[in-house]
Amino acid sequence: MIGQTVSHFRILAKLGRGGMGEVYKAEDLTLGRLVALKFLFVAGVSDRRAAMGTSPLQPDPAALERFKREALAAAALDHPNICTIYEVGEHEGQPFIAMQYLDGQTLNHRIEGKRLKTEALLDLAIQIADALDAAYSKGIIHRDIKPANIFVTERGQAKILDFGLAKHANHSAEQAGVSNLPTAAAEEVLTSPGLAMGTVAYMSPEQARGEELDARTDLFSFGAVLYEMAAGRRAFSGEAPAVIFHKILAEAPAPLLQWNPQLPAEFERIVSKALEKDRDLRYQHPADICADLKRLKRDISSGRSTAVRVVSPAQVEAERAGETAFGRAVLRRYRTRQAIAMPALVVLLAGVGYLAYRLSVKASPRPGNMQITRLTTCGD
Ligand code: ATP
Ligand code: MG
Repeated sequence: MIGQTVSHFRILAKLGRGGMGEVYKAEDLTLGRLVALKFLFVAGVSDRRAAMGTSPLQPDPAALERFKREALAAAALDHPNICTIYEVGEHEGQPFIAMQYLDGQTLNHRIEGKRLKTEALLDLAIQIADALDAAYSKGIIHRDIKPANIFVTERGQAKILDFGLAKHANHSAEQAGVSNLPTAAAEEVLTSPGLAMGTVAYMSPEQARGEELDARTDLFSFGAVLYEMAAGRRAFSGEAPAVIFHKILAEAPAPLLQWNPQLPAEFERIVSKALEKDRDLRYQHPADICADLKRLKRDISSGRSTAVRVVSPAQVEAERAGETAFGRAVLRRYRTRQAIAMPALVVLLAGVGYLAYRLSVKASPRPGNMQITRLTTCGD
């Protein structure tokens, strides 16, 4: 492939490969700029074997048309934190998209077992949330939000990759009863369960159950990404996809503060809300989580201590049991005040009562001092 010319692009190097296709660095010969070309294994158009040259291509014009239409809808997303799609094309029956070439690394590589510093974490989180909000306003769901689909450029800018592409490779998965999985998951569960782990780990419970999806699925996956950025480890992990599915459906991840004691407690609340298993209890709109993240960032930079409470893992445990030092101090103060205030109140009330009684007694006439005045005379 390297050195070949596809349409008006000259292929320069291979950038990587995922469950959905292969990505190449290429030069746009017309505009003289670098692009990333992604050749897709789109269901009904070609499959993995076909794309690898081990089986003949079976182009399905209707599927190709559908892919083009929806890729173009994603191309309409114009946001600084979404990788721009330049054009959609076809080469020997295989669809490809030409997109903005990015310099940097995926969030996957950026994390690599190391948690991010709170400031960088919040910066990236706000950018991603803002991008999700832009997609939401255009009615576009990603369905495969994961660190491998978030690029961090050299300048620290987040760029979401593969918007609008996830649902296109699910045809073969549907037939095998694993529909609704993100693209790579569907492909990988079918062909290589070991590889699937990297992508099922970010699926929402409703996605795992194969239900109809709405934008809230992306917010759950985003919650799982936020967890990983803060903890340096996945929210849901296991030795097999089935184990991960079980955790996604039935278990809460370990408290974030356990892995990252420096983390603002508010961040843990935000992540927990994004990771609500019942989508009705989750964040409902990307704008809401974006606002919460921005507020937290503002509170941290303005030094509002209520938002940034550094706690140790032991405190986390104590807090869960309702017995932190802070909690005990507050309770003690409350009880001391109560102990002083109650008798004082009783004395005060007694005093007021007595005074009221004296006044009322003074004001009313006494029966013993009554004088009888004759008003009439008789017999005169
Ligand atoms: P999938 O998206 O299929 O679930 P994936 O995200 O792991 O799996 P791809 O999307 O195929 O894989 O991307 C493969 C690699 O290509 C990425 O890890 C990234 O390093 C590189 N890449 C993708 N898009 C770009 C881009 N626009 N600019 C530069 N590199 C890119
Ligand atoms: Mg990708």
